[in-house]
Amino acid sequence: MTATVTVRVPAKVNVQLAVGAARPDGFHDLANVFLAVGLYDEVTATPADELRITCAGPDAAQVPLDRTNLAARAALALAERYGLAPDVHLHIAKDIPVAGGMAGGSADAAGALVACDALWGTNAPRDELLAICAELGSDVPFSLVGGAALGTGRGERLRPLEVGGSFHWVFAVADGGLSTPAVYGEFDRLTAGLAVPEPVASQELLDALAKGDATALAAAVSNDLQPAALSLFPALSDTLAAGRSAGALAALVSGSGPTTAFLARDAESAGAVAEALRTSGTCRAVRITEGPAPGATLR
Ligand code: ATP
Repeated sequence: MTATVTVRVPAKVNVQLAVGAARPDGFHDLANVFLAVGLYDEVTATPADELRITCAGPDAAQVPLDRTNLAARAALALAERYGLAPDVHLHIAKDIPVAGGMAGGSADAAGALVACDALWGTNAPRDELLAICAELGSDVPFSLVGGAALGTGRGERLRPLEVGGSFHWVFAVADGGLSTPAVYGEFDRLTAGLAVPEPVASQELLDALAKGDATALAAAVSNDLQPAALSLFPALSDTLAAGRSAGALAALVSGSGPTTAFLARDAESAGAVAEALRTSGTCRAVRITEGPAPGATLR
């Protein structure tokens, strides 16, 4: 039996996040274009006497170590399906900003699922792993598959997308977090009484991804949650302005924020945008990376 399994899982940026009106069940229909980017958490699963979570990394103090941790919930869900005891130590080496709108918790859930599946020898079919992911959260299936995908429904029904090249990204990590439910609540408040259109993926955006054309992608990116995130975290507009004036092709809030994402023309421009953001005093940390990145991968 394998004694230890490590899985690497990427963060994501939403290059389009179109949000419909709140449904009767409180969820929102989405047209959610995910792009996995090269910031990774690693989840290591080792046999243990009971379910145990540990976490290391700059934001580790903000990560719950009890059964509310999404990695723990993933292990419990798999164990329950196969009638196994969830006796596993999951260690999360956390590099994805916490509560940043980059699906860090979802990444850990997908990572834990793949790691436990390998450790326990359950060898669950891919479709079953995806179904468990969808139960755990709207962003979790994408963390499993990576690359680029269009999510519809709550974002969990995925269609893989073709990407014709690699895009250069800079991420500014904000000083503070935003809760995803709070941002959706603010979206509901800001759109109350308005006719919210059905969310639809932008064809220009899908074409730009398929061509690997950064300029066209920059012209097409959009995030319907951005006004809500800016309303709750107004200082983010200074971060967006700092990146734009340093030459970013596009500047947007990543998902529900407060991480901000900057699309750069090339590696050199990404370096200049990152340097300007670092010295702007408008964010806590700056990361340069590329996307698309692969989904959950056994090391
Ligand atoms: P998304 O982009 O999917 O909306 P996010 O990146 O904004 O998510 P996460 O980093 O996933 O946010 O964390 C949101 C909250 O979930 C955290 O504040 C934390 O309390 C809780 N949480 C549960 N499990 C984890 C985990 N493994 N890693 C990080 N946070 C977790």
